[in-house]
Amino acid sequence: DRINVAIDGPAGAGKSTVARMVAQELSYIYVDTGAMYRAVTWYMLREGIKPEDHDNVLQTVRNMVIELIPGKDTQSVMINGEDATPHIRTLQVSGMVSQYAKVECIRTRLSQLQREMALAKGVVMDGRDIGTTVLPDAEVKIFMTATVEERALRRYKELKDKEQVSLKQLENDIAQRDFLDQNREISPLRRAEDSVLLDTTSMDILQVVETIVSHCRS
Ligand code: C5P
Repeated sequence: DRINVAIDGPAGAGKSTVARMVAQELSYIYVDTGAMYRAVTWYMLREGIKPEDHDNVLQTVRNMVIELIPGKDTQSVMINGEDATPHIRTLQVSGMVSQYAKVECIRTRLSQLQREMALAKGVVMDGRDIGTTVLPDAEVKIFMTATVEERALRRYKELKDKEQVSLKQLENDIAQRDFLDQNREISPLRRAEDSVLLDTTSMDILQVVETIVSHCRS
């Protein structure tokens, strides 16, 4: 029988790489909820709508058409028919996403979409609040962590050819984002009590994938 798999954890823990591979292994659908928050952030920034401008944010989020199109390597996020994907990993979006992610109407809208995607089961979903809030009944819940130094190093390797960025800056950005995500009022980042804690600091990707897949099959 198909199940749902929730993978949560702080920024840069490798959730998306691992979640995608687990989904592939199980022939499940992968849903990257961070990409959804990033796409909304990109759109709001481009439209010049500040997170504290409640009426405008609410109006915009209500009328927004958000589509997730699964692909082989990355999934695409479309906002009102426009592909946001090429813009969502920039430092500008990474630096602002936690500010928009704490806005209640944005969380309500995205969580609802995420629940709909998981209705038929067979979904691997990664994020911050999947095991606690979005899919509290997920059959397998994983909480993935690694030290902030290791997470910054992994991001650095990914970004260094695309953006001018130092390891120290990435470490600061990640620590800042963790702080904001852990301390917001609505569904803050925290470990679900019934989740499996996976510290991946000294694990390689395949080991992490195998561990999660074995939890799914047991
Ligand atoms: O996973 P990723 O680093 O791409 O997520 C970007 C940001 O989106 C997080 O730092 C967090 O502020 C927000 N987010 C969230 N809830 C989720 C997924 C992401 O608040 N389920």
